[in-house]
Amino acid sequence: MIRKDYHIHTSHSDDCNIPMEEMILSAIDKGFNEIALTDHVDFDYPDREKAFVVDYDVYTEEFFPLKEKYKNKINILLGVEIGLQPHLTEDIKKLLNSYPFDFAIGSSHTINSMDVYMPKFFEGKSQKEAYTEYFLDVLNCSKMTDCYNVYGHLDYINRYGGFESKILRYQDYSDIIDEILKVIIENGKGLEINTSGFRYGLNQSHPQRDILIRYKELGGEILVAGSDSHRPQDIGCSFDYVHHTLKDIGYRYLASFEKMKPNMYKID
Ligand SMILES: [Zn+2]
Ligand SMILES: [Zn+2]
Repeated sequence: MIRKDYHIHTSHSDDCNIPMEEMILSAIDKGFNEIALTDHVDFDYPDREKAFVVDYDVYTEEFFPLKEKYKNKINILLGVEIGLQPHLTEDIKKLLNSYPFDFAIGSSHTINSMDVYMPKFFEGKSQKEAYTEYFLDVLNCSKMTDCYNVYGHLDYINRYGGFESKILRYQDYSDIIDEILKVIIENGKGLEINTSGFRYGLNQSHPQRDILIRYKELGGEILVAGSDSHRPQDIGCSFDYVHHTLKDIGYRYLASFEKMKPNMYKID
């Protein structure tokens, strides 16, 4: 069993209303020994009504007493899911240097000032064109190597766009995806294996198995499992799939983080 979930939201994310302590208690209840709370920070988010910004002075006042309170049951990491956009490097570095973060997921939520969640991003584009634009942007953002430890939900663009087929094949984008993986590997960064795809009915993790295979072929090692939970019951969701898939591909280790540095631990 994988007992570390590295992608959990709390009521400090604008799209989640579950208090931090409730998420922690659910993780303990499910037998996790380590979690990273990774609330959303999306600077320069295009939809102003939903400004994904966290006040970390307020946040840490709640976080550190809870970390202390449950320290004998679970190790809780100060994490963040940071929305990457090429012009935000300095803002993100400043945030990460201002608080004692353990771990940062870098995610592409916004491309050319459009949230990929919004239909507007897909207007006038074929599926191939939209997915290509997405991966080219990820390639740009993957180079913001001071801004993240692992790249979040790498191929999740197939959740959106309303296309008849949601299938996104690695082979169709292999040139760009390989470039992304090489940037990540060469810079000592990693990938998150995000299990939310199963809850979107996609029957896959993000990234999908073929990309995890390619990552290993290219020498990639740093991986964490993340449920992307916004509800207590989703913590650790589909981690059996992750465990099974990793073993099957030949991975023997996952990464844990402390003060933004990875440590590898063996999966049984
Ligand atoms: Zn995300
Ligand atoms: Zn998330």
